[in-house]
Amino acid sequence: MEKMADSLHGSYMRLCLKLAGIARERGEVPVGSVIVRDGAVISEGIEGVRTQHDIAHHAEMEAIRRTCEILQTLDLSGCALYTNAEPCLMCSYAIRACRIGTVVFGAPINTIGGFNSHFPVLSTKAVPNWGPPPKIVQGILREECEAARNMLQHRPKL
Ligand SMILES: [Zn+2]
Repeated sequence: MEKMADSLHGSYMRLCLKLAGIARERGEVPVGSVIVRDGAVISEGIEGVRTQHDIAHHAEMEAIRRTCEILQTLDLSGCALYTNAEPCLMCSYAIRACRIGTVVFGAPINTIGGFNSHFPVLSTKAVPNWGPPPKIVQGILREECEAARNMLQHRPKL
């Protein structure tokens, strides 16, 4: 059962990495994100900060915005968000505010990640309105995702 879940996680993570590759080709930080519900991909997000001149245009934010629009709700509690890099503090806020049920990421981001940094927005129970924290699965396709993350650390200037 766990194995099956792993390969499913892997296939969605591969899709994230593909989207991250598109971001990289555009000169963006290589991050891609997908949101899945009931085994179907609802939306995709591609990092777009530089091309859109929008500091909030992270891949996860785009995927969340699109999903809310498609499903016509701000409650994404039945959804799982995938991303090749650990969601940052901003995206983690959006994940919690929309009550996304599961977050799957490849590479940890110890500085501004919402789970592994000093600011655990993804896992805190300090905000009652956010409800229970999402289930976190990390390290899926870690090697490939870390290769992308290393590019992220050498990102071009804004
Ligand atoms: Zn972010």
